[in-house]
Amino acid sequence: MRLAMISEHASPLAALGGVDAGGQNAHVAALAAELARQGHDVRVYTRRDEEDVPETVAVRGFEVVHVPAGPPSALPKDDLLPHMGAFAEWMAADWHASGMPDVAHAHFWMSGLAGVTAGRACDVPVVQTYHALGTVKRRHQGAADSSPEHRTAYERQLGRVVDRVIVQCRDEERELTGMGVPRERMTLVPSGVDLDLFRPDGPAVPRGERPRILTVGRMVERKGYAELIRALALVPDAELVVVGGPPPGRLPDDPYARRLRALAAECGVAHRVSFTGAVPVADVPRWYRSADVLAATPWYEPFGLTPLEAMACGVPVVATAVGGLTDTVVDGVTGDLVPPRDPRALAAVLRRLLADDVRRVSQGAAALDRARRVYGWPTIAGRLADVYAETAHAFADTTDVREAVA
Ligand code: UDP
Repeated sequence: MRLAMISEHASPLAALGGVDAGGQNAHVAALAAELARQGHDVRVYTRRDEEDVPETVAVRGFEVVHVPAGPPSALPKDDLLPHMGAFAEWMAADWHASGMPDVAHAHFWMSGLAGVTAGRACDVPVVQTYHALGTVKRRHQGAADSSPEHRTAYERQLGRVVDRVIVQCRDEERELTGMGVPRERMTLVPSGVDLDLFRPDGPAVPRGERPRILTVGRMVERKGYAELIRALALVPDAELVVVGGPPPGRLPDDPYARRLRALAAECGVAHRVSFTGAVPVADVPRWYRSADVLAATPWYEPFGLTPLEAMACGVPVVATAVGGLTDTVVDGVTGDLVPPRDPRALAAVLRRLLADDVRRVSQGAAALDRARRVYGWPTIAGRLADVYAETAHAFADTTDVREAVA
């Protein structure tokens, strides 16, 4: 198949760990690479956000196309909506020039708007993955949520007009159903994990005697780092390593990192907490392998790749029971689930796990087994390719009707 991936803010070429570059970038990059490996022709459309980039970059068997829409400079994703019309128009012209895709797969709601606009103009069916929902973000962030005003209305409408919605977990399916998107329009396919990169064997970052709790992610408040630091005060002897955030050189001046350091000092655990700053994805497995447990403790999480990555390295996961984490982590088997924003409950579970070698080793083994059995990219991309084929087929069946109406 000829496939157009649309990922307006999340380029598969971006360095991960900063404020706006995380799971979606990793997801799009890995999915595109695996689909290309399975013989599909994949072009990923992402907004051009710097002056000096070539229009098209070939990487891992697929092409990244930099779409000129808005200024050629970095913009927060919440400021991109006004540029989606230009994005759609340019992409439609590119489809005319380079060949119509069989299916367009939009990632994030704004990509969906561009996808539907171009898709309608060019008779291309559109598959939608949200990656995150405005309604959940608003519920947790309230006034701090800087999403465009009508995000939730757009998301609801998209769910009704695209040709198929891919949900990544049961919680997302529930949320969308509650918003009025019919369940029969959805297919559940979780994200995958790169099993070649994330594996138990290989180098590990050196460590000392203290039990190591690791957390990995973008350094934003909703990831729950403050709760983790508070919990650490109740887990004697253990150390906490926080991977992610701005590049190491900019870490000392980062306001949020400073607040977290101050909190660690206030809780009397500053000597047991360290921050690495952003780590290149190729080096992240070394950190997982060095850990006794991965703690993923967000307030909410649309999917959450880091628990899967740790599981694929054979590391048990203590996670908050939110969003996608309730699907990936099997409570008491591949790790433990705890309520969100509850440092005491988190500390109790961490203490139990760190004190119990048998529990840790058996959960690590079960985690590895689950990651390999369910979440490998060849399996997940193959399932998505089946969805694309079914969607293209159903769309072709309606060609006569669409032509008659036109
Ligand atoms: N990551 C990375 N370097 C860092 C921090 C994070 O490569 O310093 C990667 C991490 O391995 C994972 C992604 O960024 O692949 C984070 O994805 P997740 O779904 O956990 O969270 P999101 O960023 O989407 O909220």
